[in-house]
Amino acid sequence: MSKTKKQIQKTTFKGMIINLALTAAKCSVGYLSKSQALFADGIHSLSDTATDIMIIIGAKFWEQPADECHPYGHARIETLVTIIIGAALAFTALFIGWEAVISFNDKVDKNPGWIVFSIAIISIIVKESLFRWTISKGKKFKSSALISNAWHHRSDALSSIPVAIAVLGGYFFPNLKYLDQIAAMLVAIMLLKASWSIAHPGILEICEASAGAETKRFLKELASQIPEIKEIHAIRTRKIGGSVFADLHLLVDPKISVESGHKIGGKFKKMVLESNKDIVDVLVHIEPFA
Ligand SMILES: [Zn+2]
Ligand SMILES: [Zn+2]
Repeated sequence: MSKTKKQIQKTTFKGMIINLALTAAKCSVGYLSKSQALFADGIHSLSDTATDIMIIIGAKFWEQPADECHPYGHARIETLVTIIIGAALAFTALFIGWEAVISFNDKVDKNPGWIVFSIAIISIIVKESLFRWTISKGKKFKSSALISNAWHHRSDALSSIPVAIAVLGGYFFPNLKYLDQIAAMLVAIMLLKASWSIAHPGILEICEASAGAETKRFLKELASQIPEIKEIHAIRTRKIGGSVFADLHLLVDPKISVESGHKIGGKFKKMVLESNKDIVDVLVHIEPFA
């Protein structure tokens, strides 16, 4: 088992235990004190636990080196898992929003109370700490799934804020109705937004979006530093599991040998890989400069 995979699994496992504890606390307290917002937040923690399990199991597959069936490696499995995490969150958001809407006709109970407030505050503190810890691990191990899961923890922290505010509002303004439902709907909207920011980069990657103008500029700039390269064109980039793969044409003096042309290509590739850690492969096509 690779060191990175182990670290991804370890980091995610700790997050999963916390999510499981939050699920239990929010769902039971939300149910007993009839707070729809807190219960919804608990369902959300349950979906978080499920996505953690997916990362723990998935890391085993996407860290696998390239083989006969997957010559570009298995990193797109990570992309796929990232998109599923986003989609799962979007469905949770729609479910929570729908529950809030259909309960506007229900008889409004008394203010959910301080236990709901305490659970929400604890959740905010725990999730914010978990965000900071997970994102540092994600950056260290360059794992897009860990980084997206970290941002997810941050959105979880934010999503408990309306729950806490609804309790405070009910305490200071006892005549206000539907605070709990409104809080639940706010939770849903925040989650929907979070789900898009998680899934969007993965969707772009699956659709073969380029790595961006910045990468293209970088490759041109590097080519201009090698005098034997007369021109560079047909630059194409794409991402696989967050890493960049590039293919391009280098134009060289038509009179030089195949061997010299090959050397120039190799020199360029080495320079690229050494000076940009996001780029993991460059395919060079050598062409005569006319
Ligand atoms: Zn979440
Ligand atoms: Zn060409």
